[in-house]
Amino acid sequence: MSPDAYRKYVTNEGLTTDDNAAGMALRKYAKEGSNVKSFEGKTVIVTGGSSGIGRAAAIAFGGEGARVVIADVQPEEAENTLRSVRKAGGQGIFVRTDVTKSAEVEAMVLKTIETYGQLHCAVNNAGIVHGGMLTADYPEADWDRVLNINLKGVFLCMKYEIPQMLKRGGGSIVNTASVGGIVGVSGTAAYVASKHGVVGLTKTAALDYAQSGIRVNAVCPGTTLTPPVEKGMDAARMAASKAKVPMGRMGKPEDMAAAILWLSSDAASFVTGHTLVADGGRTAE
Ligand code: NAD
Repeated sequence: MSPDAYRKYVTNEGLTTDDNAAGMALRKYAKEGSNVKSFEGKTVIVTGGSSGIGRAAAIAFGGEGARVVIADVQPEEAENTLRSVRKAGGQGIFVRTDVTKSAEVEAMVLKTIETYGQLHCAVNNAGIVHGGMLTADYPEADWDRVLNINLKGVFLCMKYEIPQMLKRGGGSIVNTASVGGIVGVSGTAAYVASKHGVVGLTKTAALDYAQSGIRVNAVCPGTTLTPPVEKGMDAARMAASKAKVPMGRMGKPEDMAAAILWLSSDAASFVTGHTLVADGGRTAE
């Protein structure tokens, strides 16, 4: 069963009324599914794809045959990611983009369309981890910087991605929030405010476009071993952080990539406005 036929089956588009035929098709897919690349021929924008979670997601999309557009401010690291994307079986380009700059985000989306014709999926993931001071001590400039990158950046990306998805009749967006998007974390006022903002923005955009074929979801990683986390924690802090996780380990970028791919895929065709927490049980307590 081709990915397109499977999509038609899942969306009921052209579905036969013969239940047996439908059941047989699904069983055939279950058997052959591992040979089907689920993002073959699809274009995916990954912001923050030069490093960490975005890099792992870009490579995972590549492994599923996607055309990946890396939008980031780190060119050398982006080229490194693209090499891995190609090795995994995908293709891609890098477009230098500061997600806080409207004109750069618009140009990046237009370059995506110029290169690949259509936009199917977007992962708005670029962000910074920031904290270490109490709310009243937070410098205003730091507040503005964190909110600009983590929240306004996601808004600007959706602002230019959504019209392209509407043109093709649908798409999927995954925004990277954080466990800091669902609980408070002392010492991180701006970060937590920005990530709660991403969750609210995601739910609202999901409702705005629920009838237009665009699904909008968020992923909430727990502490994940990416360069800023590895650099920012000494062994003692790392051990303390690990001890707080019921599963007894930190997240890996690949854990988050798997959650992002599932939310982006046709397997999640009835999922929108959802906040998928991947934190080893940390916020279940
Ligand atoms: P990372 O630093 O490895 O990757 C972030 C990427 O975003 C970098 O490549 C960076 O260059 C890019 N970026 C930063 N500012 C940008 C801008 N203005 N425009 C374009 N690109 C920009 O960090 P990561 O840990 O992989 O974080 C990815 C996302 O996951 C962030 O939104 C972060 O808040 C979120 N997150 C991370 C963790 C964690 O523990 N690592 C936990 C929860 C949420």
